[in-house]
Amino acid sequence: MTAVPAVLKPSAKMIWLKERLSTLSKWPYPDSAPCSARKLAETGFFSLQLEDEPDLAACFVCLKQMYWEKNDDPKAEHASHSPDCLFVKINKKEEDLTVSEFMDLYRESIINYKKMYMNEVLNKLRTQRNEFSELGNTKSR
Ligand SMILES: [Zn+2]
Repeated sequence: MTAVPAVLKPSAKMIWLKERLSTLSKWPYPDSAPCSARKLAETGFFSLQLEDEPDLAACFVCLKQMYWEKNDDPKAEHASHSPDCLFVKINKKEEDLTVSEFMDLYRESIINYKKMYMNEVLNKLRTQRNEFSELGNTKSR
């Protein structure tokens, strides 16, 4: 189990297309590619900016992390891998979002981050419980 990356911590900044796009300045695919930085950012994704994984990006709402290929269609891939994402469901360009939708998207990103964090804590506790239980088994032999 990998730790929840700090970069996924909800930030109101990532609501803005401009901010998501700025994280994609070193995106490996050209503007002409189906999976360009702009199309990815318009689909809700930002780069995790990991040097050894330059093709990894996450959605700021559902926090789904995905590796991308040059010819991927960001919108179609997002909808297929994360159909319950509120950004996918709202399916609007930034300029068409209402204030209420902005608030909903931010709230949803916070809820998803907390769920991810709590799952990590739960998994750590399960691992520790199993280790303790194995320790107990070893002692009683
Ligand atoms: Zn999403």
